[in-house]
Amino acid sequence: MINITDITILDDLQASWNYPTSIRFGVGSISRLADACKQLNIKNPLLVTDAGLVKQAFIQQIINNNQKAGIEIAVFSGVKPNPTASNIEQGVSVFNQAKHDGIIAVGGGSALDAGKAIALMVKQRLPIWDFEDTGDNWKRVDADKIAPLIAVPTTAGTGSEVGRSSVIVDEKNASKKIIFHPDMMPDSVIEDPALTRGLPPHITAATGIDAFVHCLEAWCAPAYHPMADGIALEGMRLIKQWLPAAFNNGDDLVARSHMLVASSMGATAFQKGLGGIHALAHPLGALYDKHHGLLNAILLPYVLHRNKPAIENKIKHLAHYLQLDDISFNGFMNWIMDFRAALNIQNNLSLIDINLEKKELVGRMATEDACASGNPVILTAIEYSQLFECAVKGVLK
Ligand SMILES: [Zn+2]
Repeated sequence: MINITDITILDDLQASWNYPTSIRFGVGSISRLADACKQLNIKNPLLVTDAGLVKQAFIQQIINNNQKAGIEIAVFSGVKPNPTASNIEQGVSVFNQAKHDGIIAVGGGSALDAGKAIALMVKQRLPIWDFEDTGDNWKRVDADKIAPLIAVPTTAGTGSEVGRSSVIVDEKNASKKIIFHPDMMPDSVIEDPALTRGLPPHITAATGIDAFVHCLEAWCAPAYHPMADGIALEGMRLIKQWLPAAFNNGDDLVARSHMLVASSMGATAFQKGLGGIHALAHPLGALYDKHHGLLNAILLPYVLHRNKPAIENKIKHLAHYLQLDDISFNGFMNWIMDFRAALNIQNNLSLIDINLEKKELVGRMATEDACASGNPVILTAIEYSQLFECAVKGVLK
């Protein structure tokens, strides 16, 4: 049970940043939520979270603490693990019926994505799919009508709190779609590492590797973006150093602090681009309803191996920065395999009950995914199907 009354403040790891948005960082920073609301002129916010988190003590503590500061929080907890368009519609109607004036999204990637999409949609005239992340669709958004939004992550992985998009499930054709607008970046973020203490080890591992993959795919994406590259490298170094500690002892707040900031770094870096790991993880998440971070963690070495001809030098540079013993592509691959194994990540997709039945469909959906264009090697649907087969069978080729 996550409680916010029994924590030790880590003075060295407290900060306020304004990059890439306003961030109040550090153990205990949830107590600064009322300040964030006041700064954005929010008096009557709707707190968006999921059915599991709403039962945690800290949600009621947040409500009580803010009430004392004159802020009346109502709760919408109808967010599924992979949020759907109907979840968003329900949230929008609750927001409008009670005339709320802002959103506080609290949770993992799903709750944050749902909160961001609700904030986007509360006053729009067009349906959500009109804002899918292709071409210039985002320009159809009436940006003045987006509700003020505060994000409070409770996992360290998606980095959705500093991202400008939401992944929403289109139930009609069982696909995940990316909804994008630059102003979907939350206006304010509270990053309190104490809120991530409740994550069980397997979720800590899967979400932590998701953050690593965000940095890695951004680093390998071919676009020219040295700022993103710098953030990606340091994000991976932090995860290498601190994810095993957070996995082995969930109450290690120093490890939880570094993992939470590394997660935001991943999403900041991936403005540069993602790649084939995400292009495959998105259809697999939609078709098999599996955890996004776990899918990425399993897919990681297979896609890396496939991309080798295009990324060998970049991976050597990365291996050097991470101070690996063997500064080579193979040295990095070996380290990744050991790192994954130490976090109890399954080695192939068959071990999480994914088979080859939908092989062709997966390949086709991967090429249609927005992340495919960031992969260092542009792969056809047949090539993605083959890569998927390798990841199911556990074969590197
Ligand atoms: Zn991801």
